[in-house]
Amino acid sequence: MLLDLSLLELKEYVKNLGLPSFRADQIFDALYKAKSLEEISNLSKEIKEKIANYYPKYEILKILESADGTMKMALKLEDGSIVESVLLKYKYGYTVCVSTQVGCRMGCKFCASTIGGLKRNLSAGEILLQVLLFNKIVGGTVKERGVTNVVLMGCGEPLDNYDNVTKFLKLLSSKDGLNISQRNISLSTCGLVDKIKKLADDGFSITLTISLHAPNDETRKKIMPIANAYKISEILNACDYYFSKTGRRVVFEYALIENVNSSAEDMLELSKLLKGRSCHVNLIPLNSVKEQNLNGIPRKEAYRLMNILNEHGISATVRRTMGEDIEGACGQLRNKLGGGK
Ligand code: SAH
Repeated sequence: MLLDLSLLELKEYVKNLGLPSFRADQIFDALYKAKSLEEISNLSKEIKEKIANYYPKYEILKILESADGTMKMALKLEDGSIVESVLLKYKYGYTVCVSTQVGCRMGCKFCASTIGGLKRNLSAGEILLQVLLFNKIVGGTVKERGVTNVVLMGCGEPLDNYDNVTKFLKLLSSKDGLNISQRNISLSTCGLVDKIKKLADDGFSITLTISLHAPNDETRKKIMPIANAYKISEILNACDYYFSKTGRRVVFEYALIENVNSSAEDMLELSKLLKGRSCHVNLIPLNSVKEQNLNGIPRKEAYRLMNILNEHGISATVRRTMGEDIEGACGQLRNKLGGGK
């Protein structure tokens, strides 16, 4: 697919087709404006025929808009796979939340994205497409982008699709493309230790977000199968390594689940665990996923727990939940048409 290619690679591709280099610029421009092949006016029918096989093919199945302005898009890809992505509006601009896999094989007990397992990885271009489509929807262009931030927090475990995801990060932050700075990109992972280290070694400096969700391994194992593969201490070591290489403060996500990980004692244990680290904790009262019988806690209670962390020297906030009415909130994305009231 042509969106998998950098401008340089596209130039090579165009050259191999026997076309002059400026054709690559024209195709690149059309791709980044999310134009369909038919909408391109400066390419002849012959050229279009030559590139048709590799030009992105997709269908926007549905766009839902939440009362708070959040939008959720369901995209049908060339092979019929469906991915969901979300657009969040903040004061400073728009953030797109992308999916990185069709489904997910991590099996976290509280997350809708993993129901049915992993179908396949998304290519770099398929991840980029989600950003480009939303950029177009909000009236952005390539030079004056509407989308300012990107979070890899949709369906899938980004570090389980390492090569495509890192290729996507390069395309997204490339000067030729949307040129979104790595500081404005967050990658969330359930904690694939080796890949966290590799990310630092490969020179990335995006914001790393860890889905921690428990103050100890025992509790974590109850809700996250990956906890059987990596201990929290190993994840924290990998975070230290990432911090030492990038200087970027790590963010920990913690979904508050009734009777599982949301007692005052849990917060005390969490403060001990994170004491002295340059980090931030994002508390998220669990969003409901109909198939799971795990419940969230009231927001008021979440603020009480946040205060406990703050009092023990841990920077923490309760995340604003957005788009819950369209099943666009954390952990609610799927690889089929999700609901919405
Ligand atoms: N696989 C990656 C990326 C997903 S990001 C990861 O695990 O980080 C989505 C975030 O939402 C993760 O922190 C995930 O743990 C969290 N999440 C999943 N289900 C949730 C739910 N029902 N309510 C609140 N947060 C949830």
